[in-house]
Amino acid sequence: MYKVERKDVIENVKRMMLYSVQTLHKEVIDAFEKASDEENNPLAKSILDKILENHEIANSKDIPLCQDTGIVVCFLEIGRELVFDYDLEEAINVGVSQAYIDGYLRKSIVRHPLNRINTMDNTPAVIHHQFIPGNKLIIHIAPKGGGSENMSTLRMLSPSEGRDGVINFVLETIKNAGGRACPPLIVGVGIGGNFEKCAWLAKKAILRPLDDVTENEIDRNLEIELMDKINKLDVGPMGLGGNTTCIGVKVNSYPCHIASLPVAVNLQCHSARKDEVILVGKEINNTNNR
Ligand code: SF4
Repeated sequence: MYKVERKDVIENVKRMMLYSVQTLHKEVIDAFEKASDEENNPLAKSILDKILENHEIANSKDIPLCQDTGIVVCFLEIGRELVFDYDLEEAINVGVSQAYIDGYLRKSIVRHPLNRINTMDNTPAVIHHQFIPGNKLIIHIAPKGGGSENMSTLRMLSPSEGRDGVINFVLETIKNAGGRACPPLIVGVGIGGNFEKCAWLAKKAILRPLDDVTENEIDRNLEIELMDKINKLDVGPMGLGGNTTCIGVKVNSYPCHIASLPVAVNLQCHSARKDEVILVGKEINNTNNR
């Protein structure tokens, strides 16, 4: 059996949070640079350039990309050969708490949706688990902005609405969101499963690398068509027009009930922050643990 130390989880979550709130992945920067070069609309181009300049300033001055430092979403991939003698979720939340307090990041989480009392350390994170073969713990984190999350949608379509229904729902979501989701966007689409599964699929989709090509042909063709149609909506950077409404569309699907066609659309704003770490478990001596 193998073990990942609690302190390593805490330190890595803290490090990833502090890094990701001020740093965009290279693939996202490259996508904005390409979009700026290809943008026909002068206002849209100037906004894209401001987003890039904002990134440079945040990086060089050690400050967040955006005042909204998000709700922390965490996807855990847990190797089946790992054992834990501590509460993994608690350790993740300690890392989040330390990052938001020590890094002077905005604390945006309220203890109850109706009493609105701030927890003062941005915990708890929203944590999802998945088991994988082996002895590694993979932690994906994303500080997710409230604006783009608020414009995300879920609808239980009728199966007869089919592929066109899915496309229309995604386009409707992005049109309705306009500038309020802070485009250019990465659009995560979850299709199938049930009510909660399609939301999970859509959230997981926004964490896929931009150049990730799905093996599923139906999803792959949908991604290509949606990318083209979304960028023809003329929503543009910050909703002020232009041909750069999204820099990526990722579709994840799952089997579903014959009576259902659940679809969720999770929007990721231009502060597309995320990071991941792979922690390899150290072998532990079973006899010492009896
Ligand atoms: S949606 Fe994104 S860019 Fe807009 S305010 Fe929130 S975190 Fe910032």
